[in-house]
Amino acid sequence: MKIKENNRNIETALTEICKKEISQCSYEELYTALLGIVEEESKKHVSPVKGRKLYYISAEFLIGKLLSNNLINLGLYDEVKACLEANGKSMTELEEIEPEPSLGNGGLGRLAACFLDSLATLNLPGDGIGLRYHCGLFRQKFTNQLQKETPDFWLGGDEWAKKTEKTYTVSLAGKDYTARLYRLAVTGYEGRTNYLNLFDLDTIDESVIGDGISFDKTDIEKNLTLFLYPDDSDDEGRLLRIYQQYLMVSAGAQMILEECVERGSSLHDLYDYAAIQINDTHPSMVIPELIRLLCERGIGFEEAAEIVTKVCAYTNHTILAEALEKWPRYYLEKVVPNLMPIIEKLDEMIRARTGDRSTAIIDDHQIVHMAHMDIHFTHSTNGVAALHTEILKNSELNHFYRLYPEKFNNKTNGITFRRWLLKCNPELTELIESLIGSEFKKDASKLEKLLEFQEDDTVLQKLAQLKHDNKEALAEWLLHTQNVAVNPDSMFLIQSKRLHEYKRQQLNLLYLIHQYCEIKAGHTPKTPVTVIFGAKAAPAYTIAKDIIHALLALSRVIRDDPEVSRWMQVVFIENYNVTAAEKMIPACDLSEQISLASKEASGTGNMKFMLNGALTLGTMDGANVEIAEAVGEDNIYIFGQSSSQVIRRYSHGDYCAREWYEVDPNIRRAVNFLTGEEMLAHGSRENLERLKNELINKDWFQTLPDFNAYIVRKNQAIADYALNPADWTRRTLINISKAGFFSSDRTIAEYNEEIWHLGE
Ligand SMILES: *Cc1c(COP(=O)(O)O)cnc(C)c1O
Repeated sequence: MKIKENNRNIETALTEICKKEISQCSYEELYTALLGIVEEESKKHVSPVKGRKLYYISAEFLIGKLLSNNLINLGLYDEVKACLEANGKSMTELEEIEPEPSLGNGGLGRLAACFLDSLATLNLPGDGIGLRYHCGLFRQKFTNQLQKETPDFWLGGDEWAKKTEKTYTVSLAGKDYTARLYRLAVTGYEGRTNYLNLFDLDTIDESVIGDGISFDKTDIEKNLTLFLYPDDSDDEGRLLRIYQQYLMVSAGAQMILEECVERGSSLHDLYDYAAIQINDTHPSMVIPELIRLLCERGIGFEEAAEIVTKVCAYTNHTILAEALEKWPRYYLEKVVPNLMPIIEKLDEMIRARTGDRSTAIIDDHQIVHMAHMDIHFTHSTNGVAALHTEILKNSELNHFYRLYPEKFNNKTNGITFRRWLLKCNPELTELIESLIGSEFKKDASKLEKLLEFQEDDTVLQKLAQLKHDNKEALAEWLLHTQNVAVNPDSMFLIQSKRLHEYKRQQLNLLYLIHQYCEIKAGHTPKTPVTVIFGAKAAPAYTIAKDIIHALLALSRVIRDDPEVSRWMQVVFIENYNVTAAEKMIPACDLSEQISLASKEASGTGNMKFMLNGALTLGTMDGANVEIAEAVGEDNIYIFGQSSSQVIRRYSHGDYCAREWYEVDPNIRRAVNFLTGEEMLAHGSRENLERLKNELINKDWFQTLPDFNAYIVRKNQAIADYALNPADWTRRTLINISKAGFFSSDRTIAEYNEEIWHLGE
């Protein structure tokens, strides 16, 4: 089938596959047909691997919908769209047929997906290895202003991940299971096709799911890959996570060795054939598993450990202690009895290497530290933004840094511009292309050419119009999917990301309460604002759910008060995911990146918003620091404590939220409002009181010290937007033009040059 030439060929192909006129086809039929066309086209871009190939192992790949993205990457999108439209069909409606594969929680999983896109685009041989969860991240529903979770079934229709005949035997708790490989083609933009390899068991039984997302956690034959990250608030949940992780790394490691041997490796020279990137600690067991497999194949232990250290590299994504996985030894003895003797030997090697017990793999309390094993037995440990890497080196992982300074390096995260510009904002893409040509699609640094147009009124007017159009489109989507009407002439402020106290949605909440009180007192803002949230809270994370509850209650308080609702509307969208992000981000005026300085390793939401012409209101945290450097202080709104102030406060242990509450009337008014009569009319006393007490008695992420600075800076941004719209647009242009550095193509090129050396 030749389909690249022109519309007629797409049209012919579709009619042939569907066996009827396109106008007579249902969207389901067209979707299935296009899936087949993409599959065939993508096969043409598979090419044999020469030299070293990357395996990116990750428990999460938040890939999002694939149809449009694949069509764009294969150069078929415009033709398909034109052909559909000529036959009375709409691309947007077609896109709605596809279920979103939400095989990730948030930033870390989305990063893995962006990396796969960039690897294929840069023509680098690099596959992903993960799990084929039957249910991705839960679906979020709001009832009575509370988050409820339901399973996200996404399989069952036509699927991108194709079942293969390849299987691997994995021994879990002494019993053998058969892991089956599913392969999903990853298309590069005018590049090669790589694969995302996902493992699953044939025996999974969706009928063990009970109420909401509960299920019998003990029967692993039926539930092993049922859910992404099952609730780990109890022992059984945590054990299941280890079962999942080992299934992934054992099947993955066997596949890697098999591929390398097929390509001619003697295994002693594995380094010439493979590079393995361990994405956070979830795949850490790949280290002892590879050693085990190499020993089984006749290699001595010491050499095996050396080979694995040379092949593997580790990415650290967080300094939050609770996220650096550590497991009681008896968990591992139960689930992976074959690995425990190897982990013990590695621990002994480290005891011989250093007397510093703070870097032990198995500590004195019989806890196994996965990150420690990663750092000792890989050749590279990287942080994900400049500030984060500095904090790793100087405080969090300082003992390791002193042992191995040469292992530590930084790779600032990035995003793929194909999805986060070409796909989600075709109008902006077209405008940019009309101004500077199309080179920026493969070389993002070319966006800087836009700086020439800073003073060009026609261009600025077009840019402003385009933002307004995108806001209208979001308004329509909100009406259609969330049943809420918003005013596209208001300023759009968006905070969308996972719900976590360190990301400080509660700071935004307190600001909104403050503004509510100010408007009631007759101090109206400079322009009406629409504040949009999107966030899921982990099902067992009580305070995060209380913050959602308070925001939903507040949104009703405001809605029911005509005095305030003229000026302010709060919208909390349900079920934030990649699809929602693609609608929200192009419509944003002000991007809220307000984490407590030192806590957000990088953030990638911040990059997506910047690229789509939003200004950032943020703390000096994660990649915000690099965004601020790139655009200059006039083109970003920075506020709040610095990371060193925060780190000092933690080390002195002298932060006392109650003191701030007691001395500051603004803080007191906002915090007290949480349990005032307005809120109680819409919310539950239990939830609101718990949140209020948390803020007064703990406030671990130091919301209160940044409160006043946040109000001042945010109101400054709103005033600038209202009073000087032309200058605002000029500054959004500067943000877009400086976003090139945050392309994941740049990130992947750096990983390749400094860590992987692929294809050599
Ligand atoms: C980009 C993205 C994230 C990460 O957002 P941060 O603001 O960096 O935390 C999370 N979820 C989705 C759906 C995303 O697209």
